[in-house]
Amino acid sequence: MRYAYWARTRIGRLLTVLLALLVYCLLLTVDGLRFFPQQIVDSSSLFTLWLRFGFSALAALLFLAVGTLVWLYARNRRVALFLFCFSCTMMITFAVETGAASNDSLLSVVGSISGVLSLSLFALLLLLFPKNYFSFGSSSHVVSGGELQSGQQYYSTLLLRGYVATLIFLSIIAELYSILRYLSPSQVPDWLDTVDSSYYVLALIGILITIIASYRRISSLRQRQQQRFFVSGVILAFVPLLLLTLLPLLLGFPEYSVDGQVTTITLGFLPLALGYTILRYQVLVFDMYIRRSVAWLIGSVGLVILGYGVFICGSLLFAHQPFAWVIFGLVAMGVLAPCVWILAKSITDRLFFTEMLHYQRLIEQPDALANETFDLNKASQLITLAAVNLFETQEVCLFVLDEDTGYYHPCPPLVEGENSHDEARCRLVQRLSQYTASAEAVQTGPSWIKGNAVIVRHVDSAPRPLLLSEAIRPDEELPRGLSRYLATTGPLDSRDPLLAPVRFQGKMIGMLVLGERGDHQQYAGPDFEALHLLFTRFSSVLQTACLYAQVNQHVTILDKLYSTNAVPIHDFETMDQAAMAYARIAADAVSCDASIWLYEEKEKRLRRFAFIGTGPRLVQQDVLTPSQEEDWLPWFYEGDSSQIWQGTSKGIPPCLPQASSFPFVWLPLNSGDQHLGLLILTYSRPHHFSREEQRVLGMFATQCVAALENVRMTLALRAAYERQKELDRLKDEFITTTSHELRTPLTAVQGYLELLASYHSTMEASMLDNFLAKASRGCEELALMVGNITDASRVQVDVKTMTLNVISLSESVQHVLEIIEAGARREQRTIQAAIPADLFVVADKIRLRQILLNLLSNALKYSPTGSDIEIAVDMNEEEVTLRVRDYGLGIPLAEQERLFERFVRLERDMNSPARGAGLGLYISKQLVEAMGGRIWVESTGMPDEGSTFILTLQRSTAQKPALVS
Ligand code: ADP
Repeated sequence: MRYAYWARTRIGRLLTVLLALLVYCLLLTVDGLRFFPQQIVDSSSLFTLWLRFGFSALAALLFLAVGTLVWLYARNRRVALFLFCFSCTMMITFAVETGAASNDSLLSVVGSISGVLSLSLFALLLLLFPKNYFSFGSSSHVVSGGELQSGQQYYSTLLLRGYVATLIFLSIIAELYSILRYLSPSQVPDWLDTVDSSYYVLALIGILITIIASYRRISSLRQRQQQRFFVSGVILAFVPLLLLTLLPLLLGFPEYSVDGQVTTITLGFLPLALGYTILRYQVLVFDMYIRRSVAWLIGSVGLVILGYGVFICGSLLFAHQPFAWVIFGLVAMGVLAPCVWILAKSITDRLFFTEMLHYQRLIEQPDALANETFDLNKASQLITLAAVNLFETQEVCLFVLDEDTGYYHPCPPLVEGENSHDEARCRLVQRLSQYTASAEAVQTGPSWIKGNAVIVRHVDSAPRPLLLSEAIRPDEELPRGLSRYLATTGPLDSRDPLLAPVRFQGKMIGMLVLGERGDHQQYAGPDFEALHLLFTRFSSVLQTACLYAQVNQHVTILDKLYSTNAVPIHDFETMDQAAMAYARIAADAVSCDASIWLYEEKEKRLRRFAFIGTGPRLVQQDVLTPSQEEDWLPWFYEGDSSQIWQGTSKGIPPCLPQASSFPFVWLPLNSGDQHLGLLILTYSRPHHFSREEQRVLGMFATQCVAALENVRMTLALRAAYERQKELDRLKDEFITTTSHELRTPLTAVQGYLELLASYHSTMEASMLDNFLAKASRGCEELALMVGNITDASRVQVDVKTMTLNVISLSESVQHVLEIIEAGARREQRTIQAAIPADLFVVADKIRLRQILLNLLSNALKYSPTGSDIEIAVDMNEEEVTLRVRDYGLGIPLAEQERLFERFVRLERDMNSPARGAGLGLYISKQLVEAMGGRIWVESTGMPDEGSTFILTLQRSTAQKPALVS
């Protein structure tokens, strides 16, 4: 719909222009056909003729071109219409000028009609532009300020209407007069001549009054600027004619009067000045170049006038002294020309471009300049305030690039809420966020703008600041061709914000968003110039503040990471605690989630030990298997957000199953060639890793390695110390118990021997045997206990010197059974042993007996009287497994491993009548392992279910005992 409307109006306008062009060509042809034959007859120089014709044609073309441009693009259509009509009439006047001047009646009629018309059109145009007097009538402009005011307005409107009606009426009569004067000069009544003159007087007075009245009534800077440009343009266009042609005539020096044909050349500037005035606030770039060209133009015109003046003065003063005349000319020009040039520049700035002077004054206010600051918020405020002053708008928001996240954020931060003084800024940002909202913005801040958002890209690449309506368009609809320099279409609405990039050394470090101007006008070229001045002045302040903020942030991170030194390593009870403390420090310093993984050398895998934070986890499982060397290199992955920064690495460690959508840091904890673990930091917001940050994190990882190694060593030392303490305790206990344990059989032996010594002669033989057997059993028990004690201290040595032979298992078991047979019978035990006679094992004969004796005497000691004991064997090609099972109290699962350590006895047996030193199983384990076997216990720990001690030995298939090396 919009496009169809645009096309329709554009085609309509183009057709009108085409028609005007046709008229131009037609008139020029007619003019040429009528002008040249006549003049050739008059034998004038052909070159002069062409010059005159060419000048008129060019002036006409200039009017047509400017009229066309304004007609096609001006936003104010009524002004565009009047200027186009005025330009057309001027075009016609100039197109037929040469013919009319050579008294061709038809062309003269056409010329004078268009001349009359152009004057009234010009007078009417001034009523519309720069101030629109006709808007008085419309109700929207009636101010409810009392009857007096509306009464005044009523009379003004009446006066205006009267003036316009009279002007139109008189112009019609003046046209009729022109027609009559050329067609039948004899029939023209005298009063028509008077009416014609009064028309010109009225029009010129009207024009003058309008200009003066407008100048007084205009309050807006822009309208005043437009009027100055307009009036000054008109005056300057006529200055050469007035000074070079008319002034010498008036002063009585007709010989110095320059030909009017030459001095009217500057009239060609008139349409340019008119067109530029109307389109000034639609021209978006080149403001500086236009200012420069105007200065040059005025300077050149000034120099020509000066040169001519000097020439006249010289010829008057030194008429007969050519040398003095030349010297005078050179000196006068040498002194005055620079002054004229400087004057021209100053006149240009003051007359045509006062607006820029105003802007410059505002930007270079001494208090603003004195406010150099390192604080990012203050620097942003400085720019914001300057923009507020310049454009008198409250809706100004500066977005500054955050290098860490790659996002632009409002600076100073927005204070939202009911009592906020920031309302205007909040509104502006809200408008903007309709077009810039992104999913990640939730993590950064709702008003943050992604560094590669369409708007930012467009603003960064455009040659001038863009309106929001332009910046949100897709790439292919961005302003192209003429519309890059001229606002050819209307904005979204009058509140269409302007987005201007703040650059430092070519890089966009911020974006200034400006809401509606204080005077409700559109932003245009001069504003862009003012912004350019503003940024040239303040962008370095902003950049310094940004860098300062960045450095501050790095120092804070460094400080926090450095605080690891204060962590009391000795307080950690476990590696988990240490890992957790370091993960917490990293997470706190970098404001991210952190996990520490420790490497398990045996399994060749990493296991997660600590995770701090609620954010994203790099992998869900707690185990990772690094397989390649690259897994042990640091990786800084910027995730999806890496598109914001050019050239960042997108690689991930090979052992990760897939790339994450968020940024993460993978820092291996290596101590030399040894891998200790891994530190992973994950970021829930987009993040860019600067080289400095990468270095700092690398340093932290090294510190982590040292600390974790320290903790590991401290823990190992502490464990060894604890073990040592435990051993000392056990040793003390052992000494106490063994002295007690040894005394019991010793007392028994001593008692029997004393009895025998006293009563052996009177004693019966059976009792004698009994006493001797009891004393002997006590000795055997003592021997076993002493043997165990001695072995405990030197078993390591014995293990080395052990001789392994192929021996019969059944023989060894038989031998031990014979030793304990008496005791077993006394306690009415049944010992079942099913061992094949041809089963041979590789073992030390004596030591195997000692092992078996230990196991069987334990089975007897720790199971109730009368319960059975079973000895069984299993075998395969290589191994023989021997089981000794009893039906005692069993051994709790938790204690089973510990039983094979030195001096360890079960708590319940410490104070029981069963004697022992806690060495039997320890020695047995050492011996079995020295023979290449294993020993362990199986028990449910339930009373009466007992326990089974199992040992394995190497099987030998050789029949004959042989020495095994
Ligand atoms: P001790 O000389 O005390 O028997 P051992 O090293 O032989 O020393 O045994 C260590 C401890 O293991 C014993 O004190 C006892 O508490 C426990 N124990 C050993 N064998 C058995 C068993 N068959 N049933 C129950 N407890 C046992």
